[in-house]
Amino acid sequence: MKLAQLTAYLESMAPLALQEDYDNSGLIVGQPEMEVHQALISLDCTEAVVDEAIATGCQVIISHHPIVFKGLKRFNGKTYVERVVEKAIRNNIALYAIHTNLDNVMTGVNARICETLGLTNTRILAPKHNLLKKLVTYVPIAQAEQVRKALFHAGAGHIGEYSEVSFNAEGTGTFKGSENSDPYVGEPGVRHHEEEMRIETVYSANLESKIIMALVLAHPYEEVAYDLYNLTNQHQEIGSGMIGELDAPMDEAEFLADVKTSMDAQVIRHTAFTGKQVKKVVVCGGSGGFLLKQAIGAGADVFITADYKYHEFFDAEGKILIADIGHFESEQFTQQLLFEIIQKKFSNFAIRLTKVNTNPVKYFI
Ligand SMILES: [Zn+2]
Repeated sequence: MKLAQLTAYLESMAPLALQEDYDNSGLIVGQPEMEVHQALISLDCTEAVVDEAIATGCQVIISHHPIVFKGLKRFNGKTYVERVVEKAIRNNIALYAIHTNLDNVMTGVNARICETLGLTNTRILAPKHNLLKKLVTYVPIAQAEQVRKALFHAGAGHIGEYSEVSFNAEGTGTFKGSENSDPYVGEPGVRHHEEEMRIETVYSANLESKIIMALVLAHPYEEVAYDLYNLTNQHQEIGSGMIGELDAPMDEAEFLADVKTSMDAQVIRHTAFTGKQVKKVVVCGGSGGFLLKQAIGAGADVFITADYKYHEFFDAEGKILIADIGHFESEQFTQQLLFEIIQKKFSNFAIRLTKVNTNPVKYFI
């Protein structure tokens, strides 16, 4: 298939607009029009992974971490980033990254960690604000249902476990077309009064162009009247970290032993045990230290993440057990997650999981 088909699907799951400002998710090397027959999935895109793609005949590498974060000025092979990009270009291999946009969605990196740990009642720990918008439009009553249907079909009116959410009120609209107009009802040059339905519905900002296109196509008027509002409400399905619960409370040491096994961690760096039973757990794949306050605020007993520094461990203040399981370890199952996401949609497309362990951290035990 065309690379664009694959990336469009991944971006429907984890829209690029949801990535953090510092990130560089998306197509980094390669052209959307190129043909791809096989994809290689990895957490990091290292030279060894590019070599593996060449050896196994893959045309695209889909990695969690983007190989390029900032501008490259030279290509003389001095750094591994330059060498990876150069090698990929020379061998016609596309590089695609699906990073913080996959961290921030309900079915992404953190959901997979929760599943691996057997957590239930999961929700996003720190939902993002300013990602929801509201559309208000005015439609002749006879066409209200066709417009509502089109809006819902395009993804509007979705809140948590509810879909097809809208508010509807009847009223009177007026308009007078110019002599060049071709009004759906009424005459040019004469003010017309029409009984209309005011339809209000919320939507994720990233779906805006799709929703407006659906509205304009379904609406009978020559000029479609609609208002778009920014909402400051939080978007409960998009944000950082996840919180979930264990079915039965556990002793802290017993819980960490379980985490070590299920997350395949060689070592866990943690703060002093609090003496409490573990019931509520917050997880954040990769560097999640910025979520500590929210984790404590949400009443979590344990915070599982990575990249904790010495002084940051003090911030636990005996209120929570911080457990640093390692960056690679916390995100390693993301590879399997990507494999399953792609396989579900493109069952005949060949996908490989990398055989390279890209973890740059080694443990001397
Ligand atoms: Zn990471």
